[in-house]
Amino acid sequence: MPDPFYITTPIYYVNDVPHIGHAYTTIAADVMARYRRLTGNDTFFLTGLDEHGQKVQQAAIKAGIDPQTYCDRVTPQFRNLWEKLHISHDGFIRTTDARHKAVVQRALQNLSNKDLIYRAEYTGWYCTFDERFWTEKDVQNGLCPDCKRPVEQLSESNYFFRMSRFQDRLKEHIQQHKDFLRPETRRNEVLGFLQKPLEDLSISRPKSRLSWGIELPFDSDYVTYVWFDALVNYISALEYLPSVPAFERYWPASIHLVGKDILTTHAVYWSTILMGLELPLPRTIFAHGWWTVDGEKMSKSRGNVVDPYVMVEEFGADAFRYFLLREIPFGQDGDFAREPFIGRINSDLANGLGNLLSRTLTLIHRFSNGRVPEPQDSTTTGLETELKRTAESLIREKLPHHLHSGRLEFNRALESIWGLVQLGNQYIDKTAPWVLAKQPDQKPRLDTVLYHSAETLRCLCISIYAFMPTTAEEIKQQLGLTLNFTKPILEGEFNWGGLLPDTQVTKGQPIFPRIEATTKSQGKNQPSPDHLGSSPSYQSQATASSQMKPEPTQRPGNTPGSDDSITIQEFEKIQLKAGKVLSAERVPKSEKLVKLQVDLGREQRQIVAGIGKKYKPEDLVGQTVVVVTNLKPAKLMGIESQGMVLAAGDEEVKSLATFLEEVDPGTKVK
Ligand SMILES: [Zn+2]
Repeated sequence: MPDPFYITTPIYYVNDVPHIGHAYTTIAADVMARYRRLTGNDTFFLTGLDEHGQKVQQAAIKAGIDPQTYCDRVTPQFRNLWEKLHISHDGFIRTTDARHKAVVQRALQNLSNKDLIYRAEYTGWYCTFDERFWTEKDVQNGLCPDCKRPVEQLSESNYFFRMSRFQDRLKEHIQQHKDFLRPETRRNEVLGFLQKPLEDLSISRPKSRLSWGIELPFDSDYVTYVWFDALVNYISALEYLPSVPAFERYWPASIHLVGKDILTTHAVYWSTILMGLELPLPRTIFAHGWWTVDGEKMSKSRGNVVDPYVMVEEFGADAFRYFLLREIPFGQDGDFAREPFIGRINSDLANGLGNLLSRTLTLIHRFSNGRVPEPQDSTTTGLETELKRTAESLIREKLPHHLHSGRLEFNRALESIWGLVQLGNQYIDKTAPWVLAKQPDQKPRLDTVLYHSAETLRCLCISIYAFMPTTAEEIKQQLGLTLNFTKPILEGEFNWGGLLPDTQVTKGQPIFPRIEATTKSQGKNQPSPDHLGSSPSYQSQATASSQMKPEPTQRPGNTPGSDDSITIQEFEKIQLKAGKVLSAERVPKSEKLVKLQVDLGREQRQIVAGIGKKYKPEDLVGQTVVVVTNLKPAKLMGIESQGMVLAAGDEEVKSLATFLEEVDPGTKVK
């Protein structure tokens, strides 16, 4: 029996409106939970809401109701969203639950009994918005360093947790446990933070200032600091479970998923609290990046907040889940824009997976009476071997590797899955079953091809389930599979050949209808996902290599190889931005390569460019250039290049592409 698997999202602040960031973390957690259940782990997936604190108290006063009523009223906007996004959480905790409060009080009492809590006078700069004190050196011009609002000097008596005592132990733990803080860059940030002496943590707020919180068990004039209260949810929730040894079963947590802004809080506050309580630390705390929208930071004032409800309504939960996890590596920042989203729906989902399902079922209906034929072993070729090898390595090696807790490479996992989608479509193109069907002596070969196409879909169905549960169910129905996703998948299902011959298939609606973008390609046949051949004009990068093949006779036009125009959607997949060169140096032992540090507004990238023959490094500094930002990182002479700069010239560089007017780094180029 594999180990129990316990995964959490942060508990979200009830006062927030759910946005793409909340959806992102929760979808990622859901994928992991579904995947682990499928592979046999006893899984517990927790999410919930943080309901205490000043902002909730203020909002309730404004609404003229008591805070609990206020919380009860706004809670459904999260709960309902999770339902729409098919989030399969096992627990939903609210910090106003009586049982949670009891655990928080017990933890405080426990620390107090060990003399890990003391009372002291504290004077500092207080930010009401962030509900926290800052030291003299943090405050700049009387403003909070975090939210830039004015801070006020406050002096008050509070209770403190002796966090400083655990500094060395924490450092050691981080150093000894490679997977404890992920990704690596964030781990280094926390270690950097721990270079400075760690202060003790104020864990109380006087009720005179804030009453909406959990009362300290040893002083009724105080409530618990919201972060202490919130973090304890990860252990208090386990006490809700009916089985008594739930805590022993699931703690320590396998993964806490957090946004990068709250990694330190988790890595430092939560870890030291656990040390104080003499409990083991979580195995992995994984910090993911932030989403910008159309290249800009999301904010209410800009009016560019992506409402997940609207996305689900318009595009469906599975497409949204797919896009968020496919588009960027989990630890990095990403940009949300409509066109790339629609582009992926059309290329990867409609023309990729949807087309493979649709054409396979059409072929089985047409040439095998709607029943999966028996493969004829004597007719299998290298193509079938390749399909089998790719599918088995996907399920047995690639998915477990990419979805390992210390990696969480959702994008790579999806890339691998779509590698099989591509291969499946290529297989049909190459074998051309519609041609085989015209030659009676090719019947055994035709049966083999139809079987292998359908078996590819069965393997894809298992592979995409965690990411796109509704789509997997739909494929399962249409393909007539007996899989039961509510139970662990049986070992045998992972092997090639699990599909039973004679299974009745049922062709349904296209699983991903194409979405018409505002700009259409001109003079092109726009194939529906229903057609039998592949569609060169809409292929994603992943399927581009399947273009060279005989066309099925059904479709007029499109002479293969004569037309290499691309659609606007394909072009828009290339993300171009203005970047300002901050520094440049020659790559040693290369006369061509120059290593650039480029400012892209919200981030800085290192780019290795082959422009060293034309330009001296010092001439490049300060130039604003055009950068391809979504190119896969590559190593050039051992140095990582995280993008590409555009230049004119074929064999040799004639001129860098630059701008007529001054533009800000990070500006989109289109
Ligand atoms: Zn602030």
